[in-house]
Order: sequence, then structure tokens, then C-alpha cells
Amino acid sequence: MSTYAISTWLFGHVPADDAIHLMAANGFTEAELSAEWAPITAAWEQDPAGVCEQLAEAGITVPSVHSPRDGRMLDLADDHERLSSVQANLRYFDLMQACGVPEIIIHPVSGAGGDNDDEWAAVPHRSRASLEVLAEKAGNAGLSLAVENIGRNGRPGSTMVSILELIDGLGDHVGICMDIGHTQQAQLDLLDELSTALTAGKLLSLHLHDVDPEGTDHYIPGEGCIDFAPFLDMLEEHDYKGGRTLEIRVAPPEEVVARIRQTAAVRERWESL
Ligand SMILES: [Zn+2]
Repeated sequence: MSTYAISTWLFGHVPADDAIHLMAANGFTEAELSAEWAPITAAWEQDPAGVCEQLAEAGITVPSVHSPRDGRMLDLADDHERLSSVQANLRYFDLMQACGVPEIIIHPVSGAGGDNDDEWAAVPHRSRASLEVLAEKAGNAGLSLAVENIGRNGRPGSTMVSILELIDGLGDHVGICMDIGHTQQAQLDLLDELSTALTAGKLLSLHLHDVDPEGTDHYIPGEGCIDFAPFLDMLEEHDYKGGRTLEIRVAPPEEVVARIRQTAAVRERWESL
């Protein structure tokens, strides 16, 4: 049976203790720490071992964390700014080591290039330089890096092929986090992209969420237009054993109980497949 983690982004507007209670009460046994402004994630930054212990007492492990916002500028032209973004991720490496979290999800591109083709032409080189530093440090620290697809219009970082190029030769501990919603937004073929990542043997993790026809993302599966069934089937066919995180956008405080319950219903349905 596959296990589905929940991203803590959903709990951005509730106290840390409530987030832990809601995850446990709805049967979640894994969490991806995300959105550093969310009280649960902010608490973890202050006291990684303490918060992981609190989660463990509630039956929840933390297989992965998401790179903080400052750490998502790995392709900037200004070298000082680019390196300070690298540094933001290295700071997370220390926190991860303090509590035994094994994997971090990294955004390889910032999108700062906008629609400028010349800007984008320089992005892979700069992103690669940042990833080389992170890969080496992660290897030394015994951590895995999962580089997430993001962006559109065939730009670097949007396709699985472009991610494979960015991480080529960086080591077995460096792989891909395929975000199915981002793939949908980029109007790429979900199964082709998944197949590319799987056959390369580089798929470490998944971000699962739905996208509506207008392209707004991070809805609960079933609320948008993605057909998840063939995607989940392909994972089974390949005997995929990596991470699976339901990455649902932050809910207003008055809706969070209903949202986590609805998300748990999807998890239960998928776990029983
Ligand atoms: Zn994602």
C-alpha cells in the first residue's frame, strides 16, 4: 500500500498544535513541511528536533521538507543574490540533520526571467551552478535533493527532460520531484512526462494536486480537470516506491477542518487502490 503525505501549506492559518491534531485525526502519518510562514513550519525552523518529536508522538513522520521561499532563487543573474539563495537551502540542511529529515524539494528556477528569451537562455547554467553546490553539500550531509518541475512554455525547469539535464551526473541522491499540477499548467502530457522521469530512474517524489481549467492550482484531486487514474496506474506498473505528497493550498481557518477531511477521503480512496 502506498502512503500519502500532506503538505503543511494547507495549515498556513492555524496554530501548530491544531495542525498536528488535524493531520493525526484525519489519519495522516506523513507530512511534508512547507510554507515557512505556516505556524507548524515556523515552529520547526525554531526547534526542528522538538517539533519532529511532537509529530512523532502523534504518529507522523517527516519524509521531506520544501525549500523556503528565499531558497527558490537559484538562477538569478546577480551572483550575490543567487548565492544567498543557495545559502537559504544550506540552512535548511542543518535543520534537517538536526531531526533526521532525509529529503528536500528544490525549485531550480525562479521565473524572474519573465517572458525575456535572453534572460532564460542564461538560466540553466546558473541554476546548474547552484545545484552543483547543493548536491555536493547534500551528499556530504546524507540528504536527498528532489528538483521540482516548475514554469511553462517549454522553459528550462518545466519539462522532465530539462530537469534531467540540470541534475545530470550530480549523484544518486539527486533526483526529481514531479509536480503533476505544474505539468498540467505547462500543458505537457502527464503520462509522457511521468514516463520520462520513471524510466530515467530519477523520480524521488511527487506533488499531487488538481488544477482548474483556468490553470489555478493546488486544489484537492477531483476539484479540477486532472485525470489521476492513468497517472496512478502508471506508478503501479513501474512499482514506484518514492514519496507522494498531497500539496493542497492554504485554507482559510474556518475551512481547514473540511479541507483536510476532504483531502483525507482522497488519500483513503487512493491507498485502497
Ligand atoms: Zn509542488
